[in-house]
Amino acid sequence: MATPSSDSSSHSKLSFSHNQSSSSLGSSNHKPHKGNHPAWAPIDQLLSEHGQVEIQHLKLLHRVGGGGMGNVYVCEINSTAIESNHHHPHCLYAMKVVDRDELKAKNKLRRHEMERNILSMLDHPFLPTLYAEFDFFHYSCLVMEYCPGGDLLTLMQRQPNTRFPLPSAKFYAAEVLVALEYLHMMGVIYRDLKPENVLVQEDGHIMLTDFDLSLKCDVSPKLLKCNGGSVMDKYYHCYSHLSLPNKKNKTKASSSSWRAEAIQKPQVQLWAEPTDARSGSFVGTREYLAPEVIRGLGHGNGVDWWAFGVFLYELLYGKTPFEGDCGGTTMTNILQQAVSFPRICGRDECEEMGKAQDLIRKLLVKDPNKRMGSLWGAVEIKRHGFFKGLDWALIRSLNPPQIKA
Ligand code: ADP
Ligand code: MG
Repeated sequence: MATPSSDSSSHSKLSFSHNQSSSSLGSSNHKPHKGNHPAWAPIDQLLSEHGQVEIQHLKLLHRVGGGGMGNVYVCEINSTAIESNHHHPHCLYAMKVVDRDELKAKNKLRRHEMERNILSMLDHPFLPTLYAEFDFFHYSCLVMEYCPGGDLLTLMQRQPNTRFPLPSAKFYAAEVLVALEYLHMMGVIYRDLKPENVLVQEDGHIMLTDFDLSLKCDVSPKLLKCNGGSVMDKYYHCYSHLSLPNKKNKTKASSSSWRAEAIQKPQVQLWAEPTDARSGSFVGTREYLAPEVIRGLGHGNGVDWWAFGVFLYELLYGKTPFEGDCGGTTMTNILQQAVSFPRICGRDECEEMGKAQDLIRKLLVKDPNKRMGSLWGAVEIKRHGFFKGLDWALIRSLNPPQIKA
């Protein structure tokens, strides 16, 4: 019996019945950065043999997590699903399963659609790859890259004094910054940065997950040519240069060659931020809410830079900066309290800590228009003294911190 989807979302293009599932995606061709990952080969094989990925092709091993949207399982491809003469490396996948009926009843189906759309366009070392998606009865399944290292909150709680040493915090913050930069370039405001949503990959690099609170909007990246001058001179040079309408420097936000070009030539600066995006939704995790979200004044990408300040603070101090006795106090503190830093004795990194505090202060500016990142996004933050000496182009090749698991 056919049971076509009744909602008007993009999934309605997939009709499905109780004995049939629908799937799409697969094929690494459209992912220039992560297309070579070995986990693609079995998926592509499934697609070429069966035309689609279905639930019976996967063996669910165990549940790794769940939240407001659904459950996440580790799974592998069933040995019977692929012809035996094909030998692929053994790969694990994470499969997020959501109950569409339940989400619809809770009015959360659009969030799931947003997450699905965002995941399908990601192609970045610090963001999950979506290998396949399919519907099965009233369930929707997203087959993603599996991250075996757990999340940063769990990891942090296992460290001495439940906080990360400064070099580790700097490393994780730097990788998150690069991931946020990419998301903004794609027109995505993440809106849910917190240590629980930062997973650790097998090689120790990070992966940002959970996009159901994210917002996708239009962005026009600009490629700026800056010649001579100090770093800040360059900003202002770029800024004044940019403030004139310049059609030549405007183009669409999809090509990764933008990024490559910006990395190879230090004199060329990429700027792509969804600064004009505005949302009135009250979303996020309380301790990480930006003042403009609490005030309900509408918000843009600045919420991610605020959250980035809270995140760096939490990694370094093991607690968030505005935490009160109850939810209401926390929100009042976010709106009114100036950020203060606990005294941490016995740390060698006093000077470095001072730079971290300076960066945090600049990110935790209540007025989003005066907040660091509001002008040039990640570019401004990357150039702060706290990250001095960090080779951003080579960050993927740096050795991740040796953290007590
Ligand atoms: P929800 O939207 O329901 O909160 P999440 O996307 O946050 O779901 O996932 C819930 C949990 O599942 C995460 O906190 C994490 O522990 C685990 N998880 C999610 N994605 C992955 C992944 N790709 N690899 C490993 N674990 C994951
Ligand atoms: Mg979550």
